[in-house]
Amino acid sequence: MITFFVIGLTVHVVFFISIFDIYFTSPLVHGMTPHSTPLEPPASRLVLVVADGLRADSLFTLLPNGSSRTPYLRSIIEDKGTWGVSHTRVPTESRPGHVALIAGFYEDVSAVAKGWKENPVEFDSVFNESRHTWCWGSPDILPMFAKGASGDHVYTHTYPAVEEDFASTDASKLDSWVFTQVKSFFKSAQSNSTLKASLWEDKNVFFLHLLGIDTNGHAHRPMSQEYLDNIGLVDAGVAEVVSIIEDFFDNDGRTAYVFTSDHGMTNWGSHGAGHPSETLTPLVAWGAGIQKAKGVTEPQPYNDGFLQDWKLEHLRRVDVSQVNCIKGVLPLLYLNNSERFKAESMYTNAIQVLEQFKMKMMQKKETTLSFLFTPYQYNMNLLFTVISLCQSLISRSLEGLVYYHTYDRFFLGCSVVLGFVGWTSYVVLVILKTHASLNRHPNLTKQMHSVNLQ
Ligand SMILES: [Zn+2]
Repeated sequence: MITFFVIGLTVHVVFFISIFDIYFTSPLVHGMTPHSTPLEPPASRLVLVVADGLRADSLFTLLPNGSSRTPYLRSIIEDKGTWGVSHTRVPTESRPGHVALIAGFYEDVSAVAKGWKENPVEFDSVFNESRHTWCWGSPDILPMFAKGASGDHVYTHTYPAVEEDFASTDASKLDSWVFTQVKSFFKSAQSNSTLKASLWEDKNVFFLHLLGIDTNGHAHRPMSQEYLDNIGLVDAGVAEVVSIIEDFFDNDGRTAYVFTSDHGMTNWGSHGAGHPSETLTPLVAWGAGIQKAKGVTEPQPYNDGFLQDWKLEHLRRVDVSQVNCIKGVLPLLYLNNSERFKAESMYTNAIQVLEQFKMKMMQKKETTLSFLFTPYQYNMNLLFTVISLCQSLISRSLEGLVYYHTYDRFFLGCSVVLGFVGWTSYVVLVILKTHASLNRHPNLTKQMHSVNLQ
């Protein structure tokens, strides 16, 4: 009887653990060759601001009197940038939200088991690929990106976790702390030549993590004055930081700005599930390489009523999925660049995703018995599209081939013509010279005459 009980328990434990192996495995693939776009990027640096727990409607909705509680960001949407809703996935928590934004994939749910602070799998991130990244914010979020970074180039500035209490009376102090730190950082860089030189290098990222709105939302709910006032404080802080950064870099027009949020919040101050108040987050991007939202001529492809609610019908809305890197598709409508740049970037994006597919297939094939392995079946329409794309790629490439094959033809033709003209001229000159010399010596002619006469 005891044996039966032990076997039964073991079977149940194995079945239970198998759930984690089947559903909660990391979607990440390792070992691909990285690809990049060969063209000059439009920005030298990125400033990423994440207002933790900020709902899309809380940012975009106007006050009853028609003004905005975020006048700075509203003016950016109106005049300088592109905006939209960034759709997050469940669980709407800080860690997976930030991983989706910064590393570009939906995180392994087993991260829960590790307390959401340790990285369950090694992953690459924008910060890791940057030359330098400076981050300011919560000790719950920043360390996980610094830890995975190869090399010592991700610098985190956090308030000590135990001292988070300094904001217990007013959580917006967490955000004021970040803005103050960023301001003094750029001020000190003015008199620190080493730091100044690093800041002027390309591929730099500045990340501001603002936890105040989230904390106020949990404590007082999103309709509270505390939550709404905190949004206003963040708007003013962003305005000030942008002006400091622009001054520091002499308004060189090489800074790109992205303002977004990791997840929203329900009316009763919670998040984690899939209600629209939790999954709809705002996205505003502006600066180097970013398109302006103006000039909407055709009706916008959104019928959720938000454009009317937010009085933004006249500005082009571009929604994205929060994951926009490894698992995502480049949101072309955000880019203000040449068609060539967009084409090259799209191509890189496609190749990168294809690399993952090939690597995943290879790994699966290696670990599966060959007679059990069923390869992925492509859709017939896709195959027809691939055939026609390849045909057009071949004919374009053949044209290009002819272009380079005959590249020197004009130059060589000209050289030959000029050479021949030169040679002909030389010959003519020699002939003329010879004839001229016959007539130029009258004495010689006279002598010859006299010789003939004798
Ligand atoms: Zn959060």
